[in-house]
Amino acid sequence: MPQDPAQESGGRSGESLDPADWTTLRQLGHRMLDDAFDQLQGLREGPVWRSMPAERRHGFGASLPREGAPAEAVYEAYLRLIAPYATGNRHPGFFGWVHGGGTPVGMLAEMLAGALNANLGGRDHAPILCERQVVAWTAEMLGFPPDASGVLVTGTSVANLMAVLVARTAALGESVRATGLAGSRLIAYASPAVHGCVGRAFDMAGLGRQALRLVPGEDRLDPARLLARIARDRRDGHLPFMVVGTAGTVDTGAVDDLAALAELCREEALWFHVDAAYGALAMLSDRLRPLLAGIEQAHSVALDFHKWAQVPYDAGCLMVRDAEAHQAAFAQPASYLARNTRGLAAGDPWPCDLGPDLSRGFRALKVWMTLQHYGADRIGRMIEHTCALAGHLAARIEHEPGLELSAPATLNVVCFRCAGLDDDAHAELAADIQESGVAAPSTTRIAGRTVLRAAIVNHRTEPRDVDALVDAVIAGAPRYR
Ligand SMILES: *Cc1c(COP(=O)(O)O)cnc(C)c1O
Repeated sequence: MPQDPAQESGGRSGESLDPADWTTLRQLGHRMLDDAFDQLQGLREGPVWRSMPAERRHGFGASLPREGAPAEAVYEAYLRLIAPYATGNRHPGFFGWVHGGGTPVGMLAEMLAGALNANLGGRDHAPILCERQVVAWTAEMLGFPPDASGVLVTGTSVANLMAVLVARTAALGESVRATGLAGSRLIAYASPAVHGCVGRAFDMAGLGRQALRLVPGEDRLDPARLLARIARDRRDGHLPFMVVGTAGTVDTGAVDDLAALAELCREEALWFHVDAAYGALAMLSDRLRPLLAGIEQAHSVALDFHKWAQVPYDAGCLMVRDAEAHQAAFAQPASYLARNTRGLAAGDPWPCDLGPDLSRGFRALKVWMTLQHYGADRIGRMIEHTCALAGHLAARIEHEPGLELSAPATLNVVCFRCAGLDDDAHAELAADIQESGVAAPSTTRIAGRTVLRAAIVNHRTEPRDVDALVDAVIAGAPRYR
């Protein structure tokens, strides 16, 4: 009598990947969750970041595992090789680039999304409704009409690329999707402080980086110069079609005059896109919202929830005012994706009509849970607090004789230099401080010189963390004088 295979494998049937013993895996899962909470509660006790020793790095040089290992052993490898050597952006002393800190509720949402394993490419199910709710909340935050279209993506780099494609299709008509760009002379405009991913978006869209003109000026797009350049390009036979404003430049946090740009775009019949990667969330603060006046008039906005909103990576978003224009750039008929008015194939339009992805994870859940649990007002206050900390940092720098501010601190980014140190010394000093584990600043270049840069994004940061950064700079600078 042949044995029942389900009995042989302890209750599993056939080749299922579910565990033979749920109890053991369940216990391991509880331990993982406890460990993760311990890590979050104890962040301050550890270094901001630590370099990974060479022998641990070798742990990632293994060949493809043919045989499985117990889940406990795999988790031990995670604890040894990965957990201690992450970016450090959860830590209150992390000031590098523009990184969000994550939240415990966001972490739990990621776990739930993993358990549900929903595919948000399309079809009629609650996770899609959840994403539409997040998009509607985002429209409300931006002052967009309630029927605006939107879709969650990895981040603003991709959202900006998609915006270029939407604007291109709006300018040339849907036929461009069949014929390609051949011979078109589309031109767009931004300030020299625009994020590098925007130029690359024009490259990836097939328009070429040179189709994005950087209008000379300081860190904001100058409307008068922009207008003159548009007129000149039109005379030269080009086809101006798009202006990219920035709400919160990555270098200094500067915000373009979005209202002026919106008006100019209306008069010149140009698509107005705003890269509001982290700045958009300032709309949740009554005090900061006026800085972004005009964003509500944009044709499209790219933004990230994984920066100022502290949603765990990754969670970006493209919003498009005109839902038809959005779909015109991406929707495509396919027999295996046919829609119905009932059953699982209902719910048209699907998110796969709004971007390049077909299979998509449930990013929306962590945004939905974050906004519901903390509430928009509390997130707005937290954002104001990071700006106040930037003010504190700027004030300390102005009072220190050996330090000088390199740009005004508009939002939450502070750039500064140490008197008497050259460019290389600033880069070395930043690396010294990162390696010390005390703080993690980054660098950028302003007016042709390397500067130290602190972007205060993390909701856990306090005045003492900012002071620790300044103290570390003051203590470390003499090495390079
Ligand atoms: C962070 C950032 C980007 C890139 O966004 P990702 O989410 O990292 O792809 C683009 N523009 C600005 C202004 C940014 O701050």
